[in-house]
Amino acid sequence: MTHSGPSAFAEVNEKVAQAGEILGLKSGVINALSSCEREVVISIPLRRGDDVEVLTGYRVQHSSARGPRKGGIRFHQDVDLDEVRALASLMTWKTALIDVPFGGAKGGVAVDASKLSPIEKEEIIRRWTRSLVHVLGHHRDIPAPDMGTDARTMAWLMDEYHRLEGFQPACVTGKPVELFGAPGREEATGRGVALIAAATLKQHDVKVKGATVAIQGFGNVGRYAALVCQELGMKVIAISDVSGGIVDKKGIDIASIFMHKSLENVEADERIGSAEVLEIECDILIPAALGSVINDKNASLINARFIIEGANQPITISADRELRAQGVVIVPDILANSGGVMGSYFEWTQNIQEFSWPIEKFRRELDTRMEAAFFNVHKVSRKYSVDLRTAAFVVSVGRVSEAFELRGSLV
Ligand code: GLU
Repeated sequence: MTHSGPSAFAEVNEKVAQAGEILGLKSGVINALSSCEREVVISIPLRRGDDVEVLTGYRVQHSSARGPRKGGIRFHQDVDLDEVRALASLMTWKTALIDVPFGGAKGGVAVDASKLSPIEKEEIIRRWTRSLVHVLGHHRDIPAPDMGTDARTMAWLMDEYHRLEGFQPACVTGKPVELFGAPGREEATGRGVALIAAATLKQHDVKVKGATVAIQGFGNVGRYAALVCQELGMKVIAISDVSGGIVDKKGIDIASIFMHKSLENVEADERIGSAEVLEIECDILIPAALGSVINDKNASLINARFIIEGANQPITISADRELRAQGVVIVPDILANSGGVMGSYFEWTQNIQEFSWPIEKFRRELDTRMEAAFFNVHKVSRKYSVDLRTAAFVVSVGRVSEAFELRGSLV
């Protein structure tokens, strides 16, 4: 992780312990839920020119208490074991929170995805799959895309898995629609973020139409969140990617820039730095890129009423505390961005049944289930008089610990 302070995994475990205390769990159970079931570290030799570069790859399986482990694979230069552990653990809480029959896992390769050719990317994911095939499978551990990987990467993963283990398209989700993917999965994370943004506004009696939105990130999550926010009547006034940010107080027409790979060459009223978008005055701020982008250095500069966490762990725990003291309402990652894994669940079930849903059904199911999770978190937050992140952890830690105890894992 790029921030100094407690490790990313320690930050997740702080929330697990807090939820465990509220629920009155035994310390042994809290300890078990704060550890990962299995961690595999591999080396991936990559041919580069006439030499070989050795990359490090990971698959961390945090919990299988509620079902097969589930979670994406990230290609990013900052990936390390601590980050993968944190993200694997978050997947356990995310899948439990939205009540899908999965546990949690995460994978990664420490490499700058933007510097890889398609052939190199294919070589890396095939090697990653070969090295990990013994711990993967549609009823063991099901990968999906994350930062730096996409549907094409998942197609290579599926193909490699099929060569080794035979036909089983449910072994991975987030595949291309032409290759057992589900229509609706690609947009699902961003769509869920936008739905949660609208629900949050309504909950606080703020009109959705015309509400202003700033988004950091123009990858899969950021761009679909922006598009659906616009479709729902909100006004996206600023958006950024690694090349910088664009601002238009009248509202950026997201549909017209949607197909641009980067924001670098997009015409704009005003240009700002990539991180400056976080400080824009707006109703809704959506960090949808890296972790820890809101931290002790910039928490006091945030100018939004609501933050919807599109990214995983975009706010450090101490910045979260400071923002809440300022009155900012924060909808946590495990709720806000859970549309992705919800969509993965729909894809997985369709693959297993060899039956496909029309996109309208996919969207309807996603919308209904996201809304149910949203209201449940609010109910629990009122019941225990706690903030939304704590409430979300209370719900998910409660469900996972129950499954854990029922299985008899303590004997
Ligand atoms: N990578 C996404 C996440 O962090 C999706 C995971 C999945 O669909 O399994 O939630």
